[in-house]
Amino acid sequence: MTGTLIDGKASAARLREKIAATTADLKAAHGLVPGLATVLVGSDPASQVYVKNKRKTAEALGFNSVHVELPADVAQDVLLDRVRALSNDKDVHGILVQLPLPKHLDENAVLDALDPAKDVDALTPTNAGLLLSGRAILKSCTPAGVMLLLKEYVGDISGMEALVIGRSLLFGKPAAQLLLAANATVTMAHSRSRDLPALARRADILVAAIGKPEFVKADWIKPGATVIDVGINRVDAGDGKTRLVGDVDYEAAKAVAGAITPVPGGVGAMTIICLMQNTLLAACAQNGLPLPKF
Ligand code: NAP
Repeated sequence: MTGTLIDGKASAARLREKIAATTADLKAAHGLVPGLATVLVGSDPASQVYVKNKRKTAEALGFNSVHVELPADVAQDVLLDRVRALSNDKDVHGILVQLPLPKHLDENAVLDALDPAKDVDALTPTNAGLLLSGRAILKSCTPAGVMLLLKEYVGDISGMEALVIGRSLLFGKPAAQLLLAANATVTMAHSRSRDLPALARRADILVAAIGKPEFVKADWIKPGATVIDVGINRVDAGDGKTRLVGDVDYEAAKAVAGAITPVPGGVGAMTIICLMQNTLLAACAQNGLPLPKF
């Protein structure tokens, strides 16, 4: 038996179409063009690629794209001033500060300078609190992408046991909240959890966001479970090249799982488009317009 492949690329393409159409309608009906600002500090090659892809996607959708690039040794005050200026700019509806920042900069201070209404990564305490209260408009992009995949491939997850391995602010914590809001029975695991394989074997939905290549083994998976692999790990391909693998031993796991996301082409494919969805939602919310549903 081989589990269903959860095709994040195809789901992302469908969402992209809907966002493009809604963006065009918004422009025609209200003259409103969603604006996304990206802030990149330093020249980390991976961050440069991430930011470039986000800008390209925003532009392709017809958004305004504003880019701020600052040197790695930028002073904290200069960065905070730039973030505050973007927070006050009416044409900018979403602000993405690419993390991680160089060590001398205080990420929390940067998040505090960000208008929560424009926090399209949903990392500010305000947006984390709104998520907890069930009132969030802006939801963390990768967890939101995971929920869309679950909706498409599983449907109603009410009453199901979900295990989230990893408790980061970026993924694990918001993912657990969204699963809970969808009425799953949620367990969160982390590096101090005891007997992870036993916890995993109970899960109807297993979500791995650990950052360790092929850490989750096939014999941890309940037969027929849905496996969502969030991990992106670059490993040696043996021929002097590297390849991407997830946090789940995919080749073995797909024989046990009912459905499983590949890496690449699974969860990762959804993240950028969910960022665009957030920018569109932020633009509507900031202009008192009804929020589009996708
Ligand atoms: P992170 O901040 O490093 O968090 C990793 C989590 O894994 C922590 O909560 C840690 O527990 C837990 N962990 C580490 N070792 C463990 C072990 N042996 N057993 C159980 N739990 C363990 O990472 P992150 O930002 O959430 O990212 C996780 C992975 O997802 C990375 O590969 C990242 O690249 C990927 N990611 C992908 C996307 C996407 O767009 N697809 C988005 C975000 C992240 P403690 O809290 O106890 O240390």
